[in-house]
Order: sequence, then structure tokens, then C-alpha cells
Amino acid sequence: MTTIQPKTIQFGRPMIGEEEREAVHRVLLGSTLTHGPLVKQFEADFTAFTGAPHAVAVASCTAALHLAYFHLGLGPGDEVVVPAETHVATAHAVELCGARPVFVDVEPDTGNLDVAQIEAAVTERTRAISVVHYLGLPVDMAPVLAVARRHGLFVVEDCALALGTRRGGEHAGLAGDVGCFSFYPVKHMTTAEGGMLVTRSAEIAESVGKARAFGIDRNVPAERKVPGMYDVEGLGFNYRMNELGAALGVVQLGRLPEFLRRRRENYEALRAGLDEVEEVQQLRAPVAGEESSYYCHAILLRESLAGRRIALMQALKARGVETSIYYPRPVPHMTYYRNKYGYTDGSFPVAARLSGHSIALPVGPHLDPDDMVQIVAVLKDALREVT
Ligand SMILES: *Cc1c(COP(=O)(O)O)cnc(C)c1O
Repeated sequence: MTTIQPKTIQFGRPMIGEEEREAVHRVLLGSTLTHGPLVKQFEADFTAFTGAPHAVAVASCTAALHLAYFHLGLGPGDEVVVPAETHVATAHAVELCGARPVFVDVEPDTGNLDVAQIEAAVTERTRAISVVHYLGLPVDMAPVLAVARRHGLFVVEDCALALGTRRGGEHAGLAGDVGCFSFYPVKHMTTAEGGMLVTRSAEIAESVGKARAFGIDRNVPAERKVPGMYDVEGLGFNYRMNELGAALGVVQLGRLPEFLRRRRENYEALRAGLDEVEEVQQLRAPVAGEESSYYCHAILLRESLAGRRIALMQALKARGVETSIYYPRPVPHMTYYRNKYGYTDGSFPVAARLSGHSIALPVGPHLDPDDMVQIVAVLKDALREVT
């Protein structure tokens, strides 16, 4: 007797089709690989999708975050309030400017920054608050902005997992001073590597637009009256997006509404299926007025099962279901931050529980609701094996 091997359910997979391949091919048939029209078009399309007045395409979300703090003039002696449960890039962008991230724990039911703890972390050195929409669920920005206004702080939204996230109809990234997005392959859409900074401020957009390309006063060679002639008014990086990435981005952004619809459908199917699995707890679902981007669905294991997490993930993998962890440790528990600032294991207990007890299940557009039914069945079976 042969057993039918069910298909592997990958955690994430870029949705690259014929249209993307043709768009990249068209770029390669020409000679404009950078400083071209596609980056401009991608930026224009991104403003249309998000409602952001300004969008600046860059090399990655990390570059966007770095540029935001560079614009602010963040430096040694300065502090930024940062959630403990996030990608290390959220904190690294602060460190790269020589400033200090001051970590704050997150909420147990959402993984989002615990807004009630921000005020206690603010000192006279604080310059900014960084917010992460964890797994795509929108942070309630009103109380964050209230603290920011009271203390005159800049607000950076790390929207790397929040493309499609909205609260009260407003897209994530528009409540704060800047919003930073990622187009890394397993995010909601991809440009291979890439990022976008959005802002309501024309001044920030102009400043970041220059700093992404060495600080040169005329970014596009065609704008230079004499070829090769330009001036440099300030420091800058080479954080540009290229035309190949932008070509991908334009096509992917056109498909994004469909990707988001599928993510939502998968999330809802998975959530319903998991309701009957008593060993796991689910982070809270979006409520009225909130739209998630449904990056993935994180489940939390009951305390008694916490030590079996890796075994469970391996049992799932053996049955064809790939999972992940968001994020493997709270950032302050990563060796670099632990060594530098002396954080210990007992700190940030909520973030530590998310990192230590959660498993991220896939809901990406490469999957469909039948796959979600399979994930639930396989999870029940794997739980029987490891308990
Ligand atoms: C992925 C991610 C980043 C980094 O994005 P890159 O485009 O790879 O630089 C930053 N912040 C969060 C929350 C992320 O998930």
C-alpha cells in the first residue's frame, strides 16, 4: 500500500508569475537599470494604494528606518522607545545612528507595543517612539501620538508586516511621522529586496529622497543641466531601489488586493479550525475598524507544552507543514543588546512568552482554505505525537 504524501505547505513563498518575469525582462532589454521611470511609477502607485501623500522607494525597510532616524539627526546620547518583540532591524536602525533603543514590553493578546508603558520609558533624552504593527494587526496610534505630542517626539511606524493594515480606514504608516515598509521575498509583496518610506511631510520626503542617494541635490541624472554636474548639500547613503526591483513592485502592487483577500480568507479558515484545538491559544483577531494585513497566524502553546515547541514544529514539518517563529527572541535578549545594555532573561516577560511559546502558521496567498484545514488536522496529529 502506498500512502499519498500531502503537498508541502510552505511558510512563505513569493508570488512570481509571468507578468513579473516579463516586466523584469523588459527592463533588461533596455539600458536604464537605475534612476529610471519605474521607481517613480512604483512610488506613485504606492501613494495611490496607501493614501500617503509621499512615498520614497529605497533598498530595504532597514534602509527606510535608518533614513528616518538620519533625517531626524538622531545621534549619541539620544534614545528611542522600541517594542521588545520585533525584528532586530527596528532596533538596529537606532543603534546605527549611535543612539540607544529603550525597550518596552508588548501586549499579551496582540504582541503590539504596550502603550501604557511608553510614558515610563521616556526620559529627557528621548527623541522618538517606534511602533511595530505586529504580524499586521494595527497598533492603536491615538494614545501613542498623545504621548509623542506631550514630549515632542518623532513617531516612526515599522510597517514591514503591515502592508494592507488599516485602522479606521487609514493605512498603517500615516499616523506617525514616517512609515517604513519591506518588500523582502516573504512579506506581502516583493521587489526581491526593497523598501518604501511614506510620509505626510513634503520636507521629510525631500530630505530622505536626497539622503538615499549620497545627498546629491539632483537625484536623476536627466535633471542635471550639464552631465556629471551636481552639488552635495549633506551626507547620504546609497539606499536606492533599482529598476528591476521597481518593475517587480509595480506588478506585485497591482496584485496586492488579491493577495490580501487570500490572506484574510486563509486566516479566517485557520482561526475557525483552531478554535477546537484546546492546547493552543490564539492572538486576538481584528475587531471592527481594524484591518489586518494577516502576515501569519501565531498560536501560543499552553504552559505545559512550552518545552515541546521545537518537537512540535519538527512534527509539523515531518507532516509537510512549515512554520516559523516571530520573533526567535525579544530583541533585548539578543546577544548584542544583552551584552551592550545588560538585559536579563527575566525582563520583558510578555515578549519572552511570545518568543518562547509561539508558533507562526502560514496564511500566505500561495495557500488556500483547504490547506488551512490540512494545517489544523496535521497540528492535532502532531500534538498527539509530542504530548
Ligand atoms: C522584515 C522586517 C524588517 C526588515 O525588513 P528588510 O526589508 O529586510 O530590511 C524590519 N522590521 C520588521 C518588523 C520586519 O518584519
